[in-house]
Amino acid sequence: MRKAFEMVERDGGGHLVGRIYPGTSINFEAFSVPESWAQLVSGAESGLARLTEEDFETFVVGEQSEQVAILKRQGDLTHAHVLIDGYFDGWPSENTQPLQVSASNADHPRDPNPWQPITDAVDLKHLGKLAEELGECTSAVSRCIIQGVDEREPMTKKLNREWLEDEIADVLASIELVIDHFKLNSMKIIERAEKKERFLQQWHAQA
Ligand SMILES: [Mg+2]
Repeated sequence: MRKAFEMVERDGGGHLVGRIYPGTSINFEAFSVPESWAQLVSGAESGLARLTEEDFETFVVGEQSEQVAILKRQGDLTHAHVLIDGYFDGWPSENTQPLQVSASNADHPRDPNPWQPITDAVDLKHLGKLAEELGECTSAVSRCIIQGVDEREPMTKKLNREWLEDEIADVLASIELVIDHFKLNSMKIIERAEKKERFLQQWHAQA
């Protein structure tokens, strides 16, 4: 992994940092990985170790389509890919650690939780509508799965494709309103969505 991170840095001009910002430099001898990503390192290293020198370079700093081709050819590179992406993106998802599952169950209930439901009418309207639209979109997606995107609702004859489009539009509208109303960090949402999209595209390419 050290060699991979070094390659990412050199590819991005990291070895020139001292010329642009005198007194600053990158330590190419050691790189650190956040704690929540550390469990990926050994699997990543064994995957990378099997690559030829040429494939290693392509996998680390090459074109995305070539990286996907290598991923498909050699199945044990997923952890390496996640780590390289994480390093490249500045470890943006440190908070996506596995949930700690508590040992409580119905036989040994915990103390009653002090949470209180929200009561503000406008908050409720925003979140309630988003929940409702998500449910409607789930129904449309389910119909497309069990019947087909280009089939029609038996009674109304409405195309499933059009229903799906309508419900996606409703969800998007509600999401926009919730982001605005609760002042959610839209840049963070967009960055995470883009990263998720890249991962899913690679998954789809493995079909
Ligand atoms: Mg709707």
